[in-house]
Amino acid sequence: MITKKGLIIGVTELEDKGRYLRVLTLDGVHEIYVRGAKKVTSKNNPGTEIFCYSNLCASPGKNGLVLDSSEPERQFYNLRFDIKKLALANFFAEIITAFGIGHEETLNLFLLCLHYLDSGNRETALIKSVFEFRYSCEIGFMPKLLGCDVCHKYDGDLSLIIGSGKLLCREDNPNNDGYALSPAVLHAIRFICLSDIKKICDFKLQAEAGRELSIISENYLVHHTEKHLKSLDYYNRLDNE
Ligand SMILES: [Zn+2]
Repeated sequence: MITKKGLIIGVTELEDKGRYLRVLTLDGVHEIYVRGAKKVTSKNNPGTEIFCYSNLCASPGKNGLVLDSSEPERQFYNLRFDIKKLALANFFAEIITAFGIGHEETLNLFLLCLHYLDSGNRETALIKSVFEFRYSCEIGFMPKLLGCDVCHKYDGDLSLIIGSGKLLCREDNPNNDGYALSPAVLHAIRFICLSDIKKICDFKLQAEAGRELSIISENYLVHHTEKHLKSLDYYNRLDNE
């Protein structure tokens, strides 16, 4: 029997009243079968809902892991009352499923984002940008943020080149490639990518800078993962309504 703490990032209901869970843990994404999860009497119901962080015990079965018991450790109740937040969490789940967990902080990143979506203490768009940049770092695409790639200038008139992840100053970027960064947005990107993970939502941006960051973070993640997911389109449609 194995015991894991994991976040349920996907639930597939089956005709036999069981369900398949996709579970994000520190060491990867696992599939676990739950017998009879939909039955009212099932003791496994509470810990097997989408976006529940649970202690899970499972045993190897014929077709993979089978859940023995589960106990919810953290449930993000408010998500289910907000279709936009739920759509964003689904986008996070889908990109991780499609691209993998990368380094060891992806689970903690997802939990932190869910915490702020649930508590409502941060703007949803900001949480999305934080996830997009930090997850890019987790999967090996951290932008090179120390300064202009040519002259090493630290700030002022720097642009981020999405493809290479490099910064270039105006003199070293005669064709104006990439996104010109305002000082606030440059600081925000450095903060998200370089801070301790517990703090990465602890900054504020004016509305205009927030919009600038949103465009750049989404393009950055989509470019590097080469995945433009339906769940992202769905979230953006809700966001524009
Ligand atoms: Zn330069």
